[in-house]
Amino acid sequence: MNQTPTLYRAAVINPLNNGNWRYLPDAGLLIERGRVVDLQPIGAFGARPELPCVELDGVISPGFVDVHTHWVQYRVRGRFQAQLLPWLKEHIWPEEASFADSALAGALAEQFFKDSIRAGTVMGMAYSSAHAGALQAASDVTLGDWLIGDVVMETDAPDALVAASAKDIGELSARAGRYGPQRYAVTPRFALNCSAPFMRDMGQLARQQGYYVQTHLSESVEEINEVHRRFADAQDYTDVYDRAGLLGERSVLGHCVHLSPREWRCLAARGSWVAHCPSSNEALDSGRMDLTALREHGVKYALASDVGGGPSHSMLHVMQRYLDQHRAAGAAVAAGEALYRATLAGAQCMGRGAYAGNFAPGKRADFLLLPRLNAHQSVDSWLEEIVQGGIDDLETRVAATWLGGIRQNGTR
Ligand SMILES: [Zn+2]
Repeated sequence: MNQTPTLYRAAVINPLNNGNWRYLPDAGLLIERGRVVDLQPIGAFGARPELPCVELDGVISPGFVDVHTHWVQYRVRGRFQAQLLPWLKEHIWPEEASFADSALAGALAEQFFKDSIRAGTVMGMAYSSAHAGALQAASDVTLGDWLIGDVVMETDAPDALVAASAKDIGELSARAGRYGPQRYAVTPRFALNCSAPFMRDMGQLARQQGYYVQTHLSESVEEINEVHRRFADAQDYTDVYDRAGLLGERSVLGHCVHLSPREWRCLAARGSWVAHCPSSNEALDSGRMDLTALREHGVKYALASDVGGGPSHSMLHVMQRYLDQHRAAGAAVAAGEALYRATLAGAQCMGRGAYAGNFAPGKRADFLLLPRLNAHQSVDSWLEEIVQGGIDDLETRVAATWLGGIRQNGTR
């Protein structure tokens, strides 16, 4: 860790808790021991000429947070056109089966985290495959602050994946215990791969030991119909998880595209988070999450790529699809809110809001550098512009990324 206080001079955008932001065109961001000490207009540091100063050409933003991704699907992201259930069976599960090879898993994990840093993602929640070895491989090379879990696949999956999955709560608890609640998330893949008793055991483990829970909820209509058939005594899909005790403030539910008002009320009452995955929902033709209903019910949410349903790990791409998708449906969304949902809200979703996600003093100095504003450009117009473009452009738009004040990459 860099112990020396360092002043970074650049424009800075700082997302605030209410979805607004503060923009400083010529700022000093003072970092010491990997933490933010102060953020002020550069003139405020005039009395401290002794501080080493790094001048950057661009806009410093907090690093991105991706609260739902599958690192084991990175190699096949966006590659197939299909609905959720056939896509899983035909393309994804065979790919995940190859993660039985821990050496391959290690190489691909390294690539995933390196590329994530390059795209500005410094934190997130990731699904691993069912294999204990692949989880360890990812854990060995993690860059940034991640919660990762091996997917539990007890039933209705290829034999090789069922065999690789934790069989019972004793085995899952032992796997989880190697990493602890700051690094491990209990990860029932989705209701269709799990029995009610095992889900109950997972809910209890998470509650008793403070683990995060991540799973999928209400992504496609076919999936929902199958859940209703399989769990006929539950009121609805959300109730399947609720009865298992899997819904709490540390629960992050991917998608939530087709929820009923009762289900929204249930998520609000439990204080659970939605991982909103607009680019994935579009790619798998799953539908549009009802942002208006989510807002009306006061449910918390953050943005996520859902690689490999989502075609890109770039959170700029996710922000673009979020804005386009909801605007096309007539919902009001601002680019500043997209930035908040891809940074501070993600940190809050992961229980790290007190020490990550923006530039409040004391927070971890995880940040990135974006292209600067044009002359006379407004910040709103700049925020719209930085999410424009194709996937290749968006994945390489971040010039450099810092973790705890240490530059990780970037030569521009
Ligand atoms: Zn997913």
